[in-house]
Amino acid sequence: MSAYDDQNIFAKILRGEIPSFKLYEDDDTYVFMDIMPRADGHCLVIPKTPCRNLLDASPEQLSAVIRTVQVMSHAVMKAFDAQGVTIQQFNEDAGGQEVYHLHFHVLPRHAGVSLRPPGKMADMDVLAAHAEKIRAALA
Ligand code: AMP
Repeated sequence: MSAYDDQNIFAKILRGEIPSFKLYEDDDTYVFMDIMPRADGHCLVIPKTPCRNLLDASPEQLSAVIRTVQVMSHAVMKAFDAQGVTIQQFNEDAGGQEVYHLHFHVLPRHAGVSLRPPGKMADMDVLAAHAEKIRAALA
């Protein structure tokens, strides 16, 4: 497995070098909207400290991130009146990983509604409005 590369896009988001729709942060984790959402409210939970994925993460990073995944699961379900939530997490190229900083996808789900196909950029005004709904649900 390759070493952590601090030029990955989520490292740049953490350093404030590129923008993100921030939803939540605590001492150890940061949460923002996925810019190609596969469901309304699709967000990403990452540790603030470097690790490539699940395979090199420390127990402390994993426990902090999964606690925040639970917080965000409640928030997105409330914000979008969802009946369920799907959590996705990909490791290495063969596992479907594209960005090499550990992240968990949190996707609110409605009965009978499929996830949208990957790779379609969101309308930024819509994404901003969805982020506001999630922030309100967290308050
Ligand atoms: P994966 O590594 O397969 O979990 O995919 C990376 C995810 O990051 C995809 O869902 C992308 O839509 C998302 N993504 C990539 N660049 C950004 C960005 N600048 N801001 C927010 N989400 C992003």
